[in-house]
Amino acid sequence: MKPVIALVGRPNVGKSTLFNRLTQTRDAIVADFAGLTRDRHYGNGRIGKHEFIVIDTGGFEPDAGSGIFKEMAKQTRQAVAEADVVIFVVDAREGLSAQDHDIANELRRLGKPCVLVANKAEGMHDGTRLVDFYELGFGEVHGISAAHGQGIRDLVELALEPLALPEPEEDAEEDPNKPIKLAVAGRPNVGKSTLINTWLGEERLVAFDLPGTTRDAISVPFERNGQRFELIDTAGLRRKGKVFEAIEKFSVVKTLQAIESANVVLLLLDATQGVTDQDAHIAGYILESGRAVVIAINKWDAVDSYQREQIQRQIETRLPFLKFASLHFISAIKRQGLGPVWQSIVQAHKSATRKMSTPVLTRLLLEAVQFQAPKRSGMFRPKMRYAHQGGMNPPIIIIHGNSLEHVTEAYKRFLEGRFRKEFDLVGTPLRIQLKTSS
Ligand code: GDP
Ligand code: GDP
Repeated sequence: MKPVIALVGRPNVGKSTLFNRLTQTRDAIVADFAGLTRDRHYGNGRIGKHEFIVIDTGGFEPDAGSGIFKEMAKQTRQAVAEADVVIFVVDAREGLSAQDHDIANELRRLGKPCVLVANKAEGMHDGTRLVDFYELGFGEVHGISAAHGQGIRDLVELALEPLALPEPEEDAEEDPNKPIKLAVAGRPNVGKSTLINTWLGEERLVAFDLPGTTRDAISVPFERNGQRFELIDTAGLRRKGKVFEAIEKFSVVKTLQAIESANVVLLLLDATQGVTDQDAHIAGYILESGRAVVIAINKWDAVDSYQREQIQRQIETRLPFLKFASLHFISAIKRQGLGPVWQSIVQAHKSATRKMSTPVLTRLLLEAVQFQAPKRSGMFRPKMRYAHQGGMNPPIIIIHGNSLEHVTEAYKRFLEGRFRKEFDLVGTPLRIQLKTSS
């Protein structure tokens, strides 16, 4: 399927001329009268190896509430809806106008990826007249000359670059029947076997035998409230018939393997012991693995209110890097607080396998940059152009742009917060990678 590019901008900036350039036809009317190219024009374009469909639009006249202008705005909105990417054209010679601002706002509302170009930039070598256009909040401004054919090839590459990226795959992750792989991790004696046996003993939770699994099977498939799970045989546990029991030695390798093969890890802590160094290490492995995580503090029945306060504080100070995880206070023996743990496990899995489309990520990125741009570092001002998803469980967001090596950790955290909020990501790490194009 050919990608679709829509040209949007106020009248007379050179959209039709650019349309002709892109389609190499003469059939769009070029004339110096505002509002002459009307409706939508469609053309086939080919520049270098890129083939695409281009739509020329009349542009928005946001103030005009009626008549031909209103119709133009409607047509333009339709063209934007049909497009994969918008080329927003402004006039380098006339400079920034109020109408450009209105169009920018409208485009932001429509949420399509946009490339901002300043046309009629032939002979403007210093680019100083283009800086005003940054106010529009679309990042870098690309100077071109549609009439003289300058900068067209680069423009097309820039516009189509994000579209060539693979979208997150529609693969088996989609299968609602696919079990969530769950590992219960924790140091010896925190209550892992007690919890698992409590769970597996509950009638709502039906363990089922897969053909060919033996008593020593390395995982236990089961179902709860219609959701299938697979309990990864957790490090430090051994199956004996239908129940799990603890084995003497704690194995780091086994813990790591269990964590790696899970989708979600339930990190179990012991309220009577507080957060120990070993707990912090296991938490560190989980974070590094990128798996989704839920924290449960067991033996809540055995501690008084003073100890409860202590441990809540310890979690904040010793496990700050798991702030994204939900926290539960439970008693495996008394079967208290277990229901919400399941909810969090399902929620964490959902967050970890969330699909984020390139247009939506790009729109959020540009909105975040407009709200607060990355700081200049010496001569360099990092410019963020678009974002796409690079993986799931953990979700990875890859941001493309220029001079991104100068983006601070604090700024990355700011972006992470915005993405987390927008996609409602709870219980999963989120990785942000920056790719600078030369
Ligand atoms: P539209 O209304 O946005 O479709 O604009 P047109 O394509 O009709 O162009 C408006 C005017 O700008 C025409 O007179 C064009 O010749 C002129 N124009 C278009 N592109 C360029 C360019 O790159 N440089 C200069 N100097 N003029 C241009
Ligand atoms: P594992 O080594 O992590 O599998 O821990 P176990 O399940 O063997 O439990 C270790 C000890 O903690 C046992 O004596 C359990 O009875 C006790 N225990 C487990 N869960 C709870 C709980 O919720 N409350 C209390 N008070 N003790 C518990």
